[in-house]
Amino acid sequence: MNVVVCVKQIPDPAAPAALDPGTKNLVRGGKLILDDSDSYGVEMALQLADAAGGGEVTLVSMVPNGETSGLRTALAMGAAKAILISDDALAGSDALGTAKVLAAAIRRVGPDLVLAATESTDGYTGTTPVQIAELLGLPSVTFAKKVEVNGGSVKVERQTEAGYDEVECPLPAVVTVTAGVVEPRYPSFKGIMAAKSKPVETLTVADLGLDAGEVGAPGARQEVTSVSPAEARGAGEIVVDEGEGHVRVIEFLEQLKVL
Ligand SMILES: Cc1cc2nc3c(=O)[nH]c(=O)nc-3n(C[C@H](O)[C@H](O)[C@H](O)COP(=O)(O)OP(=O)(O)OC[C@H]3O[C@@H](n4cnc5c(N)ncnc54)[C@H](O)[C@@H]3O)c2cc1C
Repeated sequence: MNVVVCVKQIPDPAAPAALDPGTKNLVRGGKLILDDSDSYGVEMALQLADAAGGGEVTLVSMVPNGETSGLRTALAMGAAKAILISDDALAGSDALGTAKVLAAAIRRVGPDLVLAATESTDGYTGTTPVQIAELLGLPSVTFAKKVEVNGGSVKVERQTEAGYDEVECPLPAVVTVTAGVVEPRYPSFKGIMAAKSKPVETLTVADLGLDAGEVGAPGARQEVTSVSPAEARGAGEIVVDEGEGHVRVIEFLEQLKVL
C-alpha cells in the first residue's frame, strides 16, 4: 500500500518566533523542523504499510528556501522518499494556494491513502488537508484517532466532543490524524544515517504544471490584516490551605462554570 504523508516544516517552536512587519506573516527564514503534529501521520503511514505487507511511504512538503531538515527527520523514521516543493513564486501562499501545490504533487504519486495532521502547530487553520481532498476529488475523514485499512477501504474512529464516530470510506482517501493516533518512534542512528541518502525530489510551481498566478501572493485570497500581542498572563492566586482549601477550589471551578 502506498501512502503519502503531508509534512509541514515549521520554525522551531523552542526558538523565539518573529513576524514580518510588512506581511505580518511568520518569519520562516531560519532552520525549520518537522512539525510534531506530522510525526503522528508518518508513524501511522509506516504502520499501515507494514500491516499491508509492503508499500512505500512518500512525504510531500512545501517550504521556502529548499529546507529539508524536517523531511530528513521523517525519512529517518522510515519513510522511503520525499517530494519537496520550493519556489520563490510560492511566497505569500495562503492555505488554498498551499493545498493546490500539495494536491498537484500528490497527484504525481497516485497513492492509496493520503495522511495529514488535523492542524499544523504554527498556522493551525486545519483547512489544508480537506482542500487537498476536494482538489483531488477524494473523500476525506478528519480527526482520526484510529485508522485501519481493509482491502479497498479505510475504517476510522473519528474523535468527537462526546466520544468517537466509526467512519468507513473507499480508498483512495485523505485522512487527518490527531496526536495520539499512534506513538511516533524516535529515529534510530541507523535510520538517521540512511535518511541522508534517501531521495528528495525538489519541484517548482512550473514542474507541477501550475500557473504562478494561482499560488503565492498573487493567488492568495487570505490576507493578515492586523496582529496584536497576546494578553500578558496575570499572576496566579495563592491560597494557603488551612483546612478550607477545597472550598476555594470548588468556588473557583464554579466561577469557571466547569462544575
Ligand atoms: C496571506 C498569507 C500569506 C502567507 N505566506 C506564507 C509564506 O510566504 N510562506 C509560508 O511558508 N507560509 C505562508 N503562509 C502560511 C501558509 O499559508 C500556511 O502555513 C499554509 O496555508 C498551511 O496552513 P496551516 O498551517 O494553517 O495548515 P493546516 O491546515 O492547519 O495544516 C494541517 C496539515 O496539513 C499539512 N500541511 C499544511 N501545510 C503544509 C505544507 N506547507 N507542507 C506539507 N504539509 C502541509 C500538514 O500535515 C498539516 O499538519 C501565509 C498565510 C497567509 C494567510
